[in-house]
Amino acid sequence: MSTTLRRQEMFIGGDWTPGAGSETQEIVNPATGKVIAHVPKGTDEDVNRAVAAARKAFDGGWSDTTPRERSERMLKLADAIEANADELAQIESENVGKPLAVMKSEEIPPTVDCFRFFAGAARTLEGRATGEYMQGFTSMLRREAIGVVGSIAPWNYPLMMATWKLGPALAAGNTVVLKPSEWTPLTALKLAELAADIFPPGVLNVITGDGEPVGAGIVRHPGVGMVSLTGDVATGKEIARNAASTLKRVHLELGGKAPVVVFDDADLEKVVEWIKIGGYFNAGQDCTAATRVIAGPHIHEKLLGDLVPVVSHIRVGDPLAEDTEMGPLVTEEQLTRVSAFVDRARKAGAQVLTGGARIKKAGSWYEPTVVVPPGPDAEIVNKEVFGPVVTVQRFSDEEQALQWANGVEYGLAASVWTRDLGRALRMARKLQFGTVWINTHIPLVNEMPHGGYKQSGYGKDMSVYSLEEYTQIKHVMASLD
Ligand code: NAD
Repeated sequence: MSTTLRRQEMFIGGDWTPGAGSETQEIVNPATGKVIAHVPKGTDEDVNRAVAAARKAFDGGWSDTTPRERSERMLKLADAIEANADELAQIESENVGKPLAVMKSEEIPPTVDCFRFFAGAARTLEGRATGEYMQGFTSMLRREAIGVVGSIAPWNYPLMMATWKLGPALAAGNTVVLKPSEWTPLTALKLAELAADIFPPGVLNVITGDGEPVGAGIVRHPGVGMVSLTGDVATGKEIARNAASTLKRVHLELGGKAPVVVFDDADLEKVVEWIKIGGYFNAGQDCTAATRVIAGPHIHEKLLGDLVPVVSHIRVGDPLAEDTEMGPLVTEEQLTRVSAFVDRARKAGAQVLTGGARIKKAGSWYEPTVVVPPGPDAEIVNKEVFGPVVTVQRFSDEEQALQWANGVEYGLAASVWTRDLGRALRMARKLQFGTVWINTHIPLVNEMPHGGYKQSGYGKDMSVYSLEEYTQIKHVMASLD
């Protein structure tokens, strides 16, 4: 049992509850394979109760709060997260297998900053000028909260993804029913504990359990006005279909397969340094991971020569050790998925230059891997692996680089590496991805929008664009007679 987590129940209407069902879900530490907690498997009844509590809180005062009141509470939550950073980092590390030091330095600070950003942004919402667009009538705009928002989070950054959803939803004046991933619910429960004394009962509810019935129950519920998912493309499609029956607003942050387009004139040392970070951060379980390197004809060989030893020396091990760079994959299921991808690639003719095998010890470990695929149509180049696996291809000219980069169903993020500014900007214009980095890969900031093109979904996280999506616009027209 985890020593760090106090709450292993759901949080509904300000109360902790084991939920209506009797089943629980084992929560496993992927670094050891040991069970560290049990949380309730939610039911339809829990969804109904959580939505009712959120609605009551919305109607009972939260929708009447001023932006300043919401902002002040969100700043308090940010402070509480900061004050409990060590405990949150420890819980997330135990539940997801993230290196503790990386969690503290790279995930907690932007999480705190996200709440602070949206606390500020809450006070900036405005409409266009009121005016007379028809003789004798004044038109004005109101930007209003949607009501109850269902937030469905993934397992790869449980706390940060929950925050990307809660920040704009609460800032805009909505109440929330949050469903963390069934594999990684522990920091969401800790967050609820921190929020319990800051927000009125029902403003934030956290219910645990599987996609079906809990996630799907939120999506189908007529009392939920908007659903925001971060997850797999297939889940996004299912949610869009299910949400159609009540025509609720859907916000989808889905998978990715980010190209890293390296031209011959790129700074190779920097490229390798950032592929190591961008490709293997969080064991490659990142929707923007630098997973698909497409290198120019004259730099390709040298890039592989420099990258492979760097990747093979990534320090994989105990997430609690200070110098660990990469932990395990999140679950045995994910390990099976990743190793099956690499095995199929091998059978299809790919060369595995380093890694490509499970690390045989308790838990779900996989080696950092570099693969030269058999061709641009290979499955490993086109489908999201979501593990520490980077492919490296060799392009012949800019046109082919662009065609390969854009030639996948995803469109979340991409990077281009060159010292030629004109080419960098030309590529940035033509790459069909919601984020394009030039000479870097992976940093994001709360002020800027993050979201997909194509099958990586629609809707933006972070930034004022996200805040707007959690609101609806009303036209009020008054007769001047
Ligand atoms: P997933 O789609 O399996 O699960 C995500 C969440 O959806 C979980 O809470 C799950 O219980 C829930 N869910 C599953 N089926 C559902 C249904 N029918 N109705 C409602 N909810 C349902 O995704 P995952 O494996 O947890 O996360 C990994 C995926 O998330 C990857 O594809 C990754 O690229 C993506 N991701 C995207 C971003 C982004 O910003 N675009 C960020 C992080 C992760």
